[in-house]
Amino acid sequence: MSRTVYVNGEYLAEEDAKISIFDRGFLMADGVYEVTSILDGKMIDFDGHMKRLARSLNELDMATPTTDAELEEIHRKLILANDVNEGLVYLQVTRGAADRDFVFPVGVTPSLVLFTQTKNLNNPAIAEAGIKVISVPDLRWGRRDIKTIQLLAPSVGKMAAKAAGVDDAWLVEDGQVTEGTSNNAYIVKEGKIITRHLSNDILSGITRGAVLRFAREAQMEVEERSFSIEEAQQADEAFVTSATTFVLPVIEIDGAAIGSGKPGPVAKRLREIYLDESRKSGT
Ligand code: PMP
Repeated sequence: MSRTVYVNGEYLAEEDAKISIFDRGFLMADGVYEVTSILDGKMIDFDGHMKRLARSLNELDMATPTTDAELEEIHRKLILANDVNEGLVYLQVTRGAADRDFVFPVGVTPSLVLFTQTKNLNNPAIAEAGIKVISVPDLRWGRRDIKTIQLLAPSVGKMAAKAAGVDDAWLVEDGQVTEGTSNNAYIVKEGKIITRHLSNDILSGITRGAVLRFAREAQMEVEERSFSIEEAQQADEAFVTSATTFVLPVIEIDGAAIGSGKPGPVAKRLREIYLDESRKSGT
């Protein structure tokens, strides 16, 4: 079935949507994106995603394509048009189309594309089983705090995981885990939740922000610092967070079982709290 998508001011059937071959997103990965999840037809943390989008655009001196109010309206129209009860809205802004040049073009209108994907995000079977990960070198650039569309390195990481017969990869730099290919990484030791501190080295996950807030509100101890794969393998629990996976337990890292080798109580509880709170505050 054909979806309705949004491209530069128009709502179109997906097969009619077109972007220039000179678009700098296509030629140079000169673009940023956001993914907002939908539960019960409602958006989770929409404001957080729009704030991070504004920051990404600003960090790259990219023009803002439209107002937040209009972005919200486009999200809502697409969710309705495509009857999305559970899934996501993908939004991408690129610097726009111009003759190929490394220098940023002046006066070019940014390209704005949004589409929806219907997806079973709250998959209890995966959450109950947990996922297995391997470690791979973090090959990405030095500004991972900006949510750019340069996703080849994480894609190569996921392919390495697939080839190894596991679910995902954790990225390692200078002996420390930065994050997962498309999620933030956590370990739990003696009840304490440990996750890498924010810097240019990782993306400030919107889900990470919410989960750490809920953890602190529930009187759980949180420490924001880096950790190694060896420390993670000795942890009691491990998990990842992202907008589309919520809180997902990790039960094995590089072949070593974490804790009991089953999802642990902290990850389970955080997932429950996150889902409850998100369903309540969805808009
Ligand atoms: N880190 C990376 C590298 C990601 O790609 C993502 C998902 N976009 C995240 C973390 C999690 O961010 P969020 O919770 O905002 O989805």
